[in-house]
Amino acid sequence: MEPKNVSLEMRDYIAEMGAETINWCMQCGLCTNLCPWRLVPGETSENFNIRHMQRLGQMGMEGFEEESVLFACSTCSMCQSNCPRGVKIVDNVRAMRASIVGGGMAPANLRPILGSAHANGNPWSGPREKRTDWQAGLDIPAFGPDTEYFLFVCCHSCYDPRSTKVAKSIATLLKAAGVSFGVIGNDESCCGESMRKLGDEELFQKLAQSNIELFNGKGVKKIITTSPHCLWTFKNEYPELGGEWEVIHYTDLLKQLVADGKLSFPKAAGKKVAFHDPCYLGRHSQVYDAPRQLLGSAAGGDAVELGRSREMSLCCAGGGGRIWAEVPMGERFGELRVTDALDKGAVMLTTACPYCLNMLTDACNSLGKQDELEITELSEILAAAL
Ligand code: SF4
Ligand code: SF4
Repeated sequence: MEPKNVSLEMRDYIAEMGAETINWCMQCGLCTNLCPWRLVPGETSENFNIRHMQRLGQMGMEGFEEESVLFACSTCSMCQSNCPRGVKIVDNVRAMRASIVGGGMAPANLRPILGSAHANGNPWSGPREKRTDWQAGLDIPAFGPDTEYFLFVCCHSCYDPRSTKVAKSIATLLKAAGVSFGVIGNDESCCGESMRKLGDEELFQKLAQSNIELFNGKGVKKIITTSPHCLWTFKNEYPELGGEWEVIHYTDLLKQLVADGKLSFPKAAGKKVAFHDPCYLGRHSQVYDAPRQLLGSAAGGDAVELGRSREMSLCCAGGGGRIWAEVPMGERFGELRVTDALDKGAVMLTTACPYCLNMLTDACNSLGKQDELEITELSEILAAAL
């Protein structure tokens, strides 16, 4: 085997792009062992080893640029949350991607997605003027100077036909509870969370600046997000760019509304339902109790806990831009999640993230289990129980 060259320039460039903690890594390998890629077979599983990838980054060595290595991580934070040295592994992955994508070398399958986000302000090839089509027949208020909350609907739930039901359910719940909320509409852009994780820093900055100018110009003070990905980036990445607002995921707000007696769910579903913790709501944002309390209110004793849950929840594989990855059947993390739910006797698997909804639905269909297990988003259960 030919020896690989060490490049100090590349090492420094990766660090500059945000891999500030990469040299804290002592190569213990715990991250690799905890990674969900160890749970599935296949080429990506064989090629991708996060410990080794970071070693290459520490040395500025080539070998990490291969698509099945560099773009395999779903940024689930299972490794990061357990790293004994506190290495910010997700930032390291993002920086290593940025060192390649920033040079114009994004993988071919990602170019249309990044191109759409540049041109349309969303990665789903949806025209801007159709961003609010999900509102049809719902009489959703426009955000104005006297509105308390700005409801930011994830691009996925603006354009994906299945996912628009999430936006509709959340808006219905907010209206039922008498919340003062409104949307801005077609001028909103994607939060950019996935774009940044894919390594397109320039695109992220463009989307973030556009949103910050828009939201601040409208006088936004408080934001409700439908997706945990928007929640995370608004809370953790926007403040240093000038976007400082009070940001809450819809589950946390609804939990408060139930506690205040403003919302109740008299029509319980009466089905055995399991909850899947989205990585960006759970491990990344530490919101574990709100969805469970809401599910408890709407499903009562019919809610069941999955074996791998809360801090140890198994990723659906949709984060870090992996929602756009083509993964062969038998290698999808979501298939393991569907099996987890069936093993618990659940007839419904619910979650609180549009990406998880998408990934779990695909996994359930690929296993042919759609007649045994219904995949839903929590807001749908809650809206049906009003
Ligand atoms: S768990 Fe942390 S210290 Fe250990 S190899 Fe992974 S990144 Fe390095
Ligand atoms: S963030 Fe998740 S998918 Fe990425 S390397 Fe860590 S454990 Fe694996």
